[in-house]
Amino acid sequence: MKNIQKKQILVTGGGGFLGSHLCERLLKDGNIVICVDNFYTGSKENILHLLDNPCFELKRHDITFPLYVEVDEIYNLACPASPIHYQYDPVQTTKTSVHGAINMLGLAKRVKAKILQASTSEVYGDPEVHPQTEGYWGRVNPVGIRSCYDEGKRCAETLFFDYYRQHQVRVKVARIFNTYGPRMHPQDGRVVSNFIVQALSNQPITIYGDGSQTRSFCYADDLIEGFVRLMSTDDDFTGPVNLGNESEFTIAELASLVIELTGSGSKIIKKSLPQDDPTQRRPDLSLARSKLDWEPTIALKEGLFKTIQYFDQIMNQSTNENSDSFESLMTEKSGTQDFFHQQPIGITQ
Ligand code: NAD
Ligand code: UDP
Repeated sequence: MKNIQKKQILVTGGGGFLGSHLCERLLKDGNIVICVDNFYTGSKENILHLLDNPCFELKRHDITFPLYVEVDEIYNLACPASPIHYQYDPVQTTKTSVHGAINMLGLAKRVKAKILQASTSEVYGDPEVHPQTEGYWGRVNPVGIRSCYDEGKRCAETLFFDYYRQHQVRVKVARIFNTYGPRMHPQDGRVVSNFIVQALSNQPITIYGDGSQTRSFCYADDLIEGFVRLMSTDDDFTGPVNLGNESEFTIAELASLVIELTGSGSKIIKKSLPQDDPTQRRPDLSLARSKLDWEPTIALKEGLFKTIQYFDQIMNQSTNENSDSFESLMTEKSGTQDFFHQQPIGITQ
């Protein structure tokens, strides 16, 4: 007989970095999880260990097309998150955010599910308000190379609130600040994975600009806890709510920390700063603290240590297997480990 206690939960982008951690957590909590992914940036390897679980189902599907499933909750994470990947096919990025949101909200409306949107600190753009509070409307370039992502995510938020007001869909919007951890793709192109991979392979660490720009880095486990708590709030709490870590570092400080923790002999080199790269970013977490009783618990040093262990392991594994060594995996796809300044052709399909 079917266990009526178990919730059926859809995770879009479940094969990605954060999505795979979320699927794992939801299964651990005793739910039935339907993971949907088109594997644009995600990978089956991230969820391989879940495939034998009878409560886990994987569907290859692109959320820009309608989806018909019966679920109680939806976590909408599908969208490339790294600048090189979302800028590779910007029209598809906007479609994923906007058409994807319409499809998932339509699904939530039809089956009366609660739906959580993985929004982003990018909705604040290059902010004049620091730290960023949810009340700040942001400073976003609508026509730049980051706009497909930033404006796509802003429009998705608009759709969430219109479905809430117009159709009474129960929505939750999380604004995620830079999050890192195991299962980031080694070619992901984001700063934490880039620096760790470069340090572990004794390649130069590529700082874009002078390294004085700041980010606040949240470890994946903390973020996932925030997601789950947000989903379980009362229906009248919609967010948007910031989720991240308040400790702010310059990119130069991050590079030094990675070198220290890996004991690497890598040199630091400077590259040009990509267009519209935000100069500072730090969340104000007051709302998350008061509404979710949540705050991050894992400091950057500790989280980096765990992430370094993960990359060290996968790099050793692929070197030992020899058939697809880590170096060849990196160079075949991108030609270099300085991803941003190369053609972004490293997308795993
Ligand atoms: P990721 O690239 O590892 O995961 C995204 C997943 O979505 C991948 O598995 C990808 O294949 C899938 N996907 C992309 N387009 C799709 C489509 N059209 N249909 C179905 N699946 C699709 O990135 P992530 O870091 O895990 O990010 C997950 C979500 O969180 C994204 O929505 C991202 O915008 C948001 N977010 C992440 C961060 C962060 O720092 N990690 C910060 C802000 C927001
Ligand atoms: N960055 C860098 N070197 C890299 C990758 C990124 O200096 O190899 C910088 C990037 O220019 C930005 C910051 O690190 O200022 C964070 O970049 P990321 O792509 O991780 O995320 P963002 O917050 O910009 O979306």
